[in-house]
Amino acid sequence: MTDLVKPHTLRRMRDLIERGLAPAEDRAALDAVAERYATAIPPTFLELIEKPDDPIGRQVIPTPAELLTAPHESIDPIGDDALSPVPGIVHRYADRALLKPLLVCPLYCRFCFRREHVGPDGGLLSDAQLDTALNWLRDHPAIREVILTGGDPLMLSPRRLGHIVRTLSAMPHVETIRIHSRVPVADPARMTPELLDAMETDRAMWLVLHANHAREMTDDARRALRAVQARAIPILSQSVLLRGVNDTPEALEALLRAFVTARIKPYYLHQLDPAPGTAHFHVPIAEGRALLADLRGRVTGLAWPTYVLDIPGGHGKVPLGPDYLDQDTEGLHVRDPNGRTHDLPL
Ligand code: SF4
Repeated sequence: MTDLVKPHTLRRMRDLIERGLAPAEDRAALDAVAERYATAIPPTFLELIEKPDDPIGRQVIPTPAELLTAPHESIDPIGDDALSPVPGIVHRYADRALLKPLLVCPLYCRFCFRREHVGPDGGLLSDAQLDTALNWLRDHPAIREVILTGGDPLMLSPRRLGHIVRTLSAMPHVETIRIHSRVPVADPARMTPELLDAMETDRAMWLVLHANHAREMTDDARRALRAVQARAIPILSQSVLLRGVNDTPEALEALLRAFVTARIKPYYLHQLDPAPGTAHFHVPIAEGRALLADLRGRVTGLAWPTYVLDIPGGHGKVPLGPDYLDQDTEGLHVRDPNGRTHDLPL
């Protein structure tokens, strides 16, 4: 390879092995993984990987462990399918709905809860399907917020994204448009002025960045995110609590601090959804609560995310704590960040 060869996204198991990112003896198992789940490791992430099982590699390099499906895992862990009135729409809560215009991503997270659906070949709604989805939103005036997700909506062409944003912005009841994306960290070069123009709207536009480790916040990613903020678009973060990625106090603190220094408000820390073949990423809820309790009082409140569980089966999202208040027959008791308990009047 010469210096003139453009770095490319790594997708084939053969290339993974040739680059030393997977052992040759895993080839058959990896081919079986590849038949079921998409793989894409963009150059940005390839450069960040120091060894295959480091916090960046674990997120994107397939492993034979993905062939093991635990009894509690499900191909639709949060019940999206049952809540989809028309293709591309998920309607779980009264005042908001998801619009999934495509199922392509800049990389394929090995822990993705939509891993059975996302992939490079598919999921782009046809023009007719997109019209039907947009008409459904137009016909439901209780929907105040539309969340563009996927796949990754910032993988759309500026023309198609602009069409969607303009159409939503013409619906009087749509007050807020939220875009969930991994593109600013996975492929910051996609954040062109044309794509940013496509996000222009007179409605409240928010970007929710998905990133899981502080090293994802590269200089290029930060520049791309500043360009978004320069358009008066506030940015929130969402991360998944992942074994071997961000499951230590140090890693979680570094991630949350990296968001805050990039003017991003940490929003959600998700408990892992039980998608098939993801058990090796599982962190027990008690451990997640302890990790967050460790941050309390030590790290600025600006960095504090809400630790949430999407209740399996599509029953909605709830905060998981940690809790600081107990009640018994004698009254209320509050625990301070140092673990001491204080009584409160009822
Ligand atoms: S970017 Fe989001 S939708 Fe795509 S693979 Fe990762 S978690 Fe799944």
